[in-house]
Amino acid sequence: MDATSSPRHIALVAHDNKKVELLRWAEYNRGTLAHHVLYATGTTGTMLEYELGLPVHRFLSGPVGGDQQIGARIAEGTISMLIFFWDPLEPQPHDPDVKALLRIATVWNVPMACNVSTADMIISSPLLAGDYEGTRPDLSPRAWEGPPDEAP
Ligand code: PGA
Repeated sequence: MDATSSPRHIALVAHDNKKVELLRWAEYNRGTLAHHVLYATGTTGTMLEYELGLPVHRFLSGPVGGDQQIGARIAEGTISMLIFFWDPLEPQPHDPDVKALLRIATVWNVPMACNVSTADMIISSPLLAGDYEGTRPDLSPRAWEGPPDEAP
């Protein structure tokens, strides 16, 4: 990352069976992650802080609201990238929240990796270090209204 580019605000979340995978990935990429502002759900964040020795803004644990807190930050525009290793092989008690987080990251055109290969691609992208900002869609109420009704 060059000295002029702003840090990205990156959220990291891993379901229990995926935590080791995320920790290994984050350790490998520690040097890059150290240039950015990191956020995570509760347990994931505690483990990342311990393993990486980097500050991580920790939200609540995923099943008790952490996913929703991250989704809200994405909607507000605070968090601009999501590494979310969700578990496709195990039912989650907070499945609606998981879906909501995946959905809101898609709505807001946030780069999102749900597996190691995609996370590798994102973290090594030349766009990460530059000024690239994905387009935030215009979702203001006016954009939803459609064309005005014709006068009677
Ligand atoms: P956790 O939450 O980091 O608190 O385990 C992750 C999740 O299950 O969404």
